[in-house]
Amino acid sequence: MKLRPLFFAAGMLAAAACVPSGDRAAGTAAGRMAPPPGMVSVREFGKDGRLMEATAMEKVVKTDAEWRKILTQEQYTVARGKGTEPAFCGVFYDHHQPGIYSCVCCGLPLFSADAKFDSGTGWPSFFQPVAEVNVITQPDNSHGMKRVEILCARCDAHLGHVFDDGPKPTGRRYCLNSVSLVFAPQAAVAVQPKAEKATFAAGCFWGVEETFRALPGVVSTTVGYTGGRAKSPTYKQVCANTTGHAEAIEIVFDPALVTYEKLLAVFWENHDPTTLNRQGPDVGSQYRSAIFFHSDAQKAAALAAIAALTKEKRFPKPIVTELVPVGEFWPAEEYHQKYFMKKGGGSCNVH
Ligand SMILES: [Zn+2]
Repeated sequence: MKLRPLFFAAGMLAAAACVPSGDRAAGTAAGRMAPPPGMVSVREFGKDGRLMEATAMEKVVKTDAEWRKILTQEQYTVARGKGTEPAFCGVFYDHHQPGIYSCVCCGLPLFSADAKFDSGTGWPSFFQPVAEVNVITQPDNSHGMKRVEILCARCDAHLGHVFDDGPKPTGRRYCLNSVSLVFAPQAAVAVQPKAEKATFAAGCFWGVEETFRALPGVVSTTVGYTGGRAKSPTYKQVCANTTGHAEAIEIVFDPALVTYEKLLAVFWENHDPTTLNRQGPDVGSQYRSAIFFHSDAQKAAALAAIAALTKEKRFPKPIVTELVPVGEFWPAEEYHQKYFMKKGGGSCNVH
């Protein structure tokens, strides 16, 4: 199928999953002021949703029997037994709601949705914890690998591993088990970044989604249908070319990390905007090239980009991309979402 290359890179990433990326200097606890024995210095959120100063709290220490009583078998296996949930099987790897992820064992806040990114590994991934003091890292040489384990600072729950191949600003990838976390949606209001939407059509939406999903600053992607007449269309109806809809992608992005102009540049780079109602072998108005703008600013940016590309003769033929205001967007059936990413998935047994 159709679009060029980025999805291959993402596919490889999915296959690589939680593999080691070097032996990070571990033991960040070493440089801290040591709290009294049995105590730990950590940060929690106040009632206003803001992170408070570090305060000394008692460590949570329980026997195995006590943990087994309050945890499910799966939670116990991973959080107390240092297990790993299978990729693409946890509840949070593809979870994009604003909020805070806390320790399943003791409730300490650990990671915020605004530091979450789509790593393509099948595990929830963050570029930083809510506070450095809330997690401990230590070398993990198990399974013939050299990795750095992440633990909850208050109860020593096993959370996952941290790698050096994450995005800016930290360059770190905290690769977590969903089952070690609990999620609270309301607490994150104060820390959620401003998000914007962009909607494009550029041929078969599988490849288009894989291309945009991999961009830093893209918070989430959804494939679907828009620009036509039918309500709640199915893939079959859209492919029959009777609904007027285009296969499209809705992107939620953080404009502080990626600009709309950058998204437009990726859009032009990854399809042919000069062919009317076709992309390569895919023919029909559902494969048309279209920009569904969400604001006058987006419209102006698209017009400016078309003018610039035309002037520099970037394409051998005129750009025929449709430029229209965004209308209702109908998400496609679940099996189309993150289609290429899911191809890397495995079985769902905890081991
Ligand atoms: Zn904990």
